[in-house]
Amino acid sequence: MALDFAPQAPCYNACMLPDLKLETVVRLRKPHPCGSYEWKVVRLGGDIGLECLNCGRRVLLPRRLLAQRMKGIVSQPKNESE
Ligand SMILES: [Zn+2]
Repeated sequence: MALDFAPQAPCYNACMLPDLKLETVVRLRKPHPCGSYEWKVVRLGGDIGLECLNCGRRVLLPRRLLAQRMKGIVSQPKNESE
């Protein structure tokens, strides 16, 4: 159990994800092997599909795991298509 909880960090509950939508770009705590920290949400469900913004690799992460690994939201999609 790593204790890297920072009291001043934004309040992302470890068991709950903030409101993720398709196209939301998130930042993770650890970089992908390609060096990028930023991922785009490409699938929602029990598992969240993420696409690496740098190399385009796609992964599926269970919500809980993503909540633990996520550092924050980089950008939310704009809602002008609807
Ligand atoms: Zn990558």
